[in-house]
Amino acid sequence: MDFDKRPILVFWETTRACGLACRHCRACAVTEAPPGELTADEGQRLLEQLTGFGMPRPVLVATGGDVLMRADLDSLATRAAQLRLPLAIAPSVTPLLTAERVEQLHRLGVRVASISLDGACAVVHDGIRGVTGHFEHTLAAIALLRKAGITVQVNTVVTSQTLDELPTILRLAREAGAKIWELFFLVRTGRGSDLAELDAGVCEQVCHFLVDASRYGLIVRTVEAPFFRRVVAEREAGSAPSGPIYAALSAKLLEELGPPSGAPRAQTKGTRDGRGVIFVGHDGSITPSGFLPLELGNVREDDIVSVYRDHPLLRKIRAAEFEGRCGACSWRDLCGGSRARAFAAHGDPLAEDPCCAYRPPRAPRGRVIRGREPAGEHAA
Ligand code: SF4
Ligand code: SF4
Repeated sequence: MDFDKRPILVFWETTRACGLACRHCRACAVTEAPPGELTADEGQRLLEQLTGFGMPRPVLVATGGDVLMRADLDSLATRAAQLRLPLAIAPSVTPLLTAERVEQLHRLGVRVASISLDGACAVVHDGIRGVTGHFEHTLAAIALLRKAGITVQVNTVVTSQTLDELPTILRLAREAGAKIWELFFLVRTGRGSDLAELDAGVCEQVCHFLVDASRYGLIVRTVEAPFFRRVVAEREAGSAPSGPIYAALSAKLLEELGPPSGAPRAQTKGTRDGRGVIFVGHDGSITPSGFLPLELGNVREDDIVSVYRDHPLLRKIRAAEFEGRCGACSWRDLCGGSRARAFAAHGDPLAEDPCCAYRPPRAPRGRVIRGREPAGEHAA
């Protein structure tokens, strides 16, 4: 895949309306759609624009808010199928997610859906999602999607609240028949601005745990933690995980699921915000990702294909022209750090990712951000 030419994933925030009010919501979703969202006609035009990327088509991930609150979802799905544009959905778990709705979307060509499961018990999950009983509804929603023949990806946000729950969440996802487990490492944006990120040493240990977790049949991948790819490569090269959080998580994993049964299935495609991924906001704004609110254009006036291929910032991101430790790192092409977190932390999308524990030996002192010392080692 030539990421200079086309992304593999285009996220479209179809609406900001959502029946939930999660504490970490990137979109700051609200109960009624705010003014200015792309109309049905504009949505159809966006689908046609996306064909300009050529073949293979990117996967269009219809997200939100809650995509099920988008009144024209069926006609969008129909048009996407006509254009041979694979469509995945990221619905919220609300009373709108019914068996009839899911079966209809499957008939229209939707084959993949992601569902958020943020705790291994009602106390944690419901606390994050803000709705009593939501944990049980979420497990029921996964079963309903599977019954309709839709592949389910379980999404989990990684914060201090969910950390201890991760091994049990994996067991639940596996028992529920999910095929993919995607872990979102918090970026302090949207409503998540008020929450604390995990520090770099903890993120490193979680990544090592995720390598182990990927040996239980599900594909495991991360969002806004591309340094997971470095950890996967280091483990393949024989590095040994360590640290008390890793030890506790791996012990709980063994308790929950027993010894691993397969080879690691950690997904390591070299995407990052703006490289293989692009985001369209509810108002048509084009940004490198949903977590990086830097507007590069708007699909109402601009061609998303040209913006993706030619915008100077995206060219720099794809060429791995970074500052600080990421700029001096030999892993910068495979990883490159979270550009969204660099922006949230430093106001510069090309700065270093503060949640990565790796300290490249060649980081020039004058360019190291936040006074981190280059030591060629791991802070964990
Ligand atoms: S379900 Fe998603 S869109 Fe809705 S409030 Fe929660 S995080 Fe935001
Ligand atoms: S320093 Fe940056 S590029 Fe290197 S592994 Fe860490 S996040 Fe990735």
